[in-house]
Amino acid sequence: MAGTLIALGGNALQRAGGSGSWKEARASLRAVAPVLAEAAQTSGTLVLTHGNGPQVGALLRQNELAADELPGLPLDVLGAETQGQIGYLIQSELTPMLRRRRVGRSVLTVISRTEVRANDPAFLHPTKPIGRYYSEAESRLLRKKLGWSMVDDRVRGGWRRLVPSPRPVRWLEGPLVRGLLDTGAGGRWIPVVAGGGGIPVVRRPSGAYEGVEAVVDKDLAAALVARELGLETMAIVTDVPGAALSFGRSGERWLGEVSRQELANYRSRGEFAEGSMEPKVDAGLAFLSGGGRHFLICDIPSLPRALRGEAGTRVG
Ligand code: ADP
Ligand code: MG
Repeated sequence: MAGTLIALGGNALQRAGGSGSWKEARASLRAVAPVLAEAAQTSGTLVLTHGNGPQVGALLRQNELAADELPGLPLDVLGAETQGQIGYLIQSELTPMLRRRRVGRSVLTVISRTEVRANDPAFLHPTKPIGRYYSEAESRLLRKKLGWSMVDDRVRGGWRRLVPSPRPVRWLEGPLVRGLLDTGAGGRWIPVVAGGGGIPVVRRPSGAYEGVEAVVDKDLAAALVARELGLETMAIVTDVPGAALSFGRSGERWLGEVSRQELANYRSRGEFAEGSMEPKVDAGLAFLSGGGRHFLICDIPSLPRALRGEAGTRVG
C-alpha cells in the first residue's frame, strides 16, 4: 500500500526539561500538528505511532505516591493509559489543523497490543530503565520487597528499575486496521496505533492474551506495524536531524542518503548507541528487508523535506 508511517519520539510530545504538564503537551503537539497535516496532504495512507517514556514514567510516579490509598496498576495497564492519553492529544490537536487545510481525514486511535514470546530471553535479562531514580537504600528495599531488577546509574542520579524489552512478534490489532485501510479508508482516516510500542502481551496455552511487565521498543514495533500494513515509507522522527557517525565526538558526520549495506556496516561498527539510535537503525533495516521502500530518520522541522528526499538520513 502506498503510504507512510510516522513514528514520533518522546520529544515530539514532551519537551526535555519541561514540567510535563498537560498544557505543555498540548503546546508541543500543536507545534507538530502542521507538519503532520502537511504529510497527510502529500502522502497516501498515513499512519502514526509514538513513544510514551515520559508519560508512563509520570503514571508510575502517580501510582507510587497514591499507593496508601489506591492499589497500583500494572505496567500493561499504564501502557494502555498512555495510548489513550496521547491518542486523545493527537486527535484533538491534529483534527483542527486538518480542517484548516481542508484535508478530509479523521484521526482514530486504536488501543494496540503487541505479542511477545513468553520464552524471549529478554525476560531473563531486563535492560530497559523506566520510572524515576531511587537512592541506594530505596533500591535495596524495592529489590527485596517487589523483586525489581534495578541498575545503579549513579552518574545520572541513582538507581533505576529495569524491565525486559522483548522482541515484538505480532501486532494483534494489525489485521483489523489493515482491513479498514484496504477498504479505501486510508483516504479518510489517520490511525494512531501501537503507542509506546504497543501493550506487551503473551499468549497463554488457553489462547488468551495476558499483559506482562515489560516494554516493547517503539521503533521495533513501528517496523512491525509498517510491514503489517505493507506501507512503503517509514519515518522515525526524533530530536536529532538524523543518524550520525562519531556522534557527539570530533569528526561527527550526519548521514544523508545511505545504502542499506552501508547503514548495516556502520551499525556493526558500533556507531549507533544501544537503546536510542541503534533500535531505530535496526527497525529501519527490518522494515526494508521486509519489503519497505524508504526509511527515514529526521527531526520534526526536517520531516516535510525528509519526506521529499531532501533532508534526514534516508535509506532505500
Ligand atoms: P526517541 O524518544 O525519539 O526514541 P531516543 O533518545 O531514544 O529518542 O533516540 C534519539 C537519541 O539518539 C538522540 O537524541 C541522540 O542523543 C542519540 N544517538 C545515539 N547515537 C546516535 C547517532 N549515532 N546519531 C544520532 N543520534 C544518536
Ligand atoms: Mg527511544
